[in-house]
Amino acid sequence: MNDNQLYEMLGVSRTATDAEIKKQYRKLAKEFHPDKNPEAGDKFKEISAAYEILADPKKRDIYDKYGVKGLREGAGSSGCSPDDIFSHIFGGGLFSGGGSPFMRRTQRGEDTVHPLKVTLEDMYNGKTSKLQLCKNVICVTCKGKGSRTGAKAKCDMCRGTGVKVEYRQWGWGVDMAQRVQSCCPKCMGEGEMIKESDKCITCRGHKVCNQTKILEVHVDKGMREKQRIYFRGEGDQQPDCEAGDVVIILSQKKHERFQRRDDDLIMVHKITLTEALCGFQFAVKHLDGRDLIITHPPGQIIKPGDVKGVVGEGMPIYKNPFEKGNLYVKFSVTFPENHFQTENVLKELEAFLPPRPKVDIPIGDDVEEVDLQDCEDGLDSSSSGFNKGDHEASGRGSDSHLLQCAQQ
Ligand SMILES: [Zn+2]
Ligand SMILES: [Zn+2]
Repeated sequence: MNDNQLYEMLGVSRTATDAEIKKQYRKLAKEFHPDKNPEAGDKFKEISAAYEILADPKKRDIYDKYGVKGLREGAGSSGCSPDDIFSHIFGGGLFSGGGSPFMRRTQRGEDTVHPLKVTLEDMYNGKTSKLQLCKNVICVTCKGKGSRTGAKAKCDMCRGTGVKVEYRQWGWGVDMAQRVQSCCPKCMGEGEMIKESDKCITCRGHKVCNQTKILEVHVDKGMREKQRIYFRGEGDQQPDCEAGDVVIILSQKKHERFQRRDDDLIMVHKITLTEALCGFQFAVKHLDGRDLIITHPPGQIIKPGDVKGVVGEGMPIYKNPFEKGNLYVKFSVTFPENHFQTENVLKELEAFLPPRPKVDIPIGDDVEEVDLQDCEDGLDSSSSGFNKGDHEASGRGSDSHLLQCAQQ
């Protein structure tokens, strides 16, 4: 398929401006309009369809880059499906010089997309979910013809074109009319109708019937958020059209304990200062129901924000579930409350702790003793900018921060 085809139909170059394309289209539309030139009906449809694409900057861009194939794949579905537009131009008849322009090449129907909520446990252990869906299937009685005899009549509203063309006049004369093209409402763009008396009783002429179907969705171990599971050809059926797919998109419910990062799991665990200094043990209920006992020996200090890992206790790897990611535990350390011990006991405690740093206290007239107060106002190290980075960037900045706090 020549990529310049749409431009050639309108007789413009690839570099033509929007205005040039519009002008050329108007000229040709007048010339080939079925009212003026009944012999050239197909030609009018052809240039109209070409103009519809080239006049739309988005479609023209896609066409320029990817050709007709790109438009077929990327086009949205508003009004007439893009396939209808293409069938006017490319679907059989028009260029082979015979037959109906509406004889479609086999097209693919749209995919049906369903979100599926799953838990992290489901993604860890694997799970089969049953999903009930309603879909259109070709009517078995009429085999998708919609009629009992198979006879078809041309739609009288659109004269078989499937397209409703209106000219909305907004100025003086035809040149200023805006051309509006839409799907024929009577035949729904098909160009042909079935006589009332000839309609299939089962599908009442719709060619398809509604059917409930249960799909078994296998959520495999290690599958991820937003992962797609395809059921090829399980989408809605329609005549002369290859059925699209049913696409299941996994959406993970938030887990109360674990966060997932790729194949790793992350959890936060709170310990006390005593545990941080003297070691600890705790149990974690894993996603498969096991209790993991995590032991940390005394003497190995845990500082607030420290992260430790347990190798091989993360998520199973998709398609290779015997391999697993890691489990990371981020620690937060809870310090004791004020006055948790008497001053005397604290003195005793101090004897066990590392010695204080030596501090030089200046003496003289320029020395002033000040009070250190509690300040509630958001000076926690993470949110206020009163953090390490700030200290390094500008020592003065953080000094003034402290000052503001004291003044409040
Ligand atoms: Zn039927
Ligand atoms: Zn019609």
